[in-house]
Amino acid sequence: MAEQKRADYASTRPQADGAWVAFVEEGSPAWEAGIEPGMRIERVNGVVPRDLIDWRWEADGASCELEVYDPADGTTTPCELWREPGQDWGVDFTDVLFDGIRTCVNACQFCFMAMLPPEARATLTLRDDDYRLSFLQGNFVTLTNVSDDEAERIVTCGLSPMNVSIHAITPEVRRSLIGRRADRGIEVLEQLLAGGIEVHAQIVLCPGINDGDELAATLDWVEARPGITSLAIVPLGYTKHSRRFKSSYSDDVEASRAVVRLLEPYQERARRTLGITRFQLSDEFYVDAGLPVPPAETYDGYPQFYDGIGMLRSFLDETALVAQDRADDLCRVDGVLAEKDLRLELVCGEAAAETIDVFCRELSPAGRVRTRAIRNDYFGGDVNVTGLIVSEDLLAQLPADLTGTIVVLPEVMFNFDRLTLDGDTQDHIVDELRSRGALVTVSVPNPGDYLDAILSLPKNA
Ligand code: SF4
Repeated sequence: MAEQKRADYASTRPQADGAWVAFVEEGSPAWEAGIEPGMRIERVNGVVPRDLIDWRWEADGASCELEVYDPADGTTTPCELWREPGQDWGVDFTDVLFDGIRTCVNACQFCFMAMLPPEARATLTLRDDDYRLSFLQGNFVTLTNVSDDEAERIVTCGLSPMNVSIHAITPEVRRSLIGRRADRGIEVLEQLLAGGIEVHAQIVLCPGINDGDELAATLDWVEARPGITSLAIVPLGYTKHSRRFKSSYSDDVEASRAVVRLLEPYQERARRTLGITRFQLSDEFYVDAGLPVPPAETYDGYPQFYDGIGMLRSFLDETALVAQDRADDLCRVDGVLAEKDLRLELVCGEAAAETIDVFCRELSPAGRVRTRAIRNDYFGGDVNVTGLIVSEDLLAQLPADLTGTIVVLPEVMFNFDRLTLDGDTQDHIVDELRSRGALVTVSVPNPGDYLDAILSLPKNA
């Protein structure tokens, strides 16, 4: 029998087994059984659930037997739950991983965590690489820390699709780029593909390391594996704190164009044989190459939208739709701005400014709406995306007097707890801008949401 590969990871492991209950829906089977927020489900049908996948797998039927710990009296009590067909158990947990996050065993040359400012929040420096978050939340993982048992679990439970970082295919290049466990990632990836798992893959392209011939070899390898239904290529990003990288494709138009050209035959073959483009470049490559972003059909329904693949195209197309379907709303906004002599500023990163300007011109042909592109001094380097804007740059670059200005902040610069990457709160930023005379709203940065956010501002603005 072949030697079993053990799981090799560090993990932020909670002290107690099971799933802490965060919410119970009134009238649900969980509520009927007396389960309350703050309790912990220690076992489901005799199994300690490690994560939401175990919970869904074990509690899949019309009934389930639980062992529930109540911290109020320190007891663990068995109970049985029943449900009607299609009914939910009515319970939510504090996390999707009950036994902690697996952290990575790699040392990627391009790791953004190694380029953070020294004062960055501790949560930003957590190097997670957990295959379960790939399935549950779409995180990219390298699979280098996955054991044989875990690979089998992925296949048996059908955890598909998975998002997997490949980066390079030649073993020496992979080891130099990712670290000594690089081979294991490909070994597991082959197992998953053989087991029928669909994979969305990613390459972080580093100039002179995994582009050129190595990129061609990696594309050939992917092309031969139809289970990889999309491959996104994103450029190396670097900050001023990087000791290794001082330039990337953002500084080299020709290198960006070479990548665009290298992809074209693969894209054409995929369209001809599969009817999808499959091989996709992140928006930055087109911006850095000074080329227009391709049409929507190139993006195959945007399977890697949140990896920055097709966001600009989607924004431009939605602008055209809004201009066509909501012309009255656009006119109304411009009319109010003119009547009250107001200006409107859409805050964004430098990378998106030119694209968002297209929407600004639709919203106000007279120029009352403009983008406010925030230069990223906090990270420096070539960091210029909206999602990485920090409070100190925003507050330093917006004028001290914002009287008569509506400021629209992008929701993506805040995390789930409404904190910026440099640790400021959304409330504090809004209060500060109001103290400068601005009217402030927060919006998802796309045309329809911008318009809704602006229209919902108080009428007496
Ligand atoms: S897998 Fe690589 S890029 Fe991701 S956290 Fe680990 S070292 Fe960083």
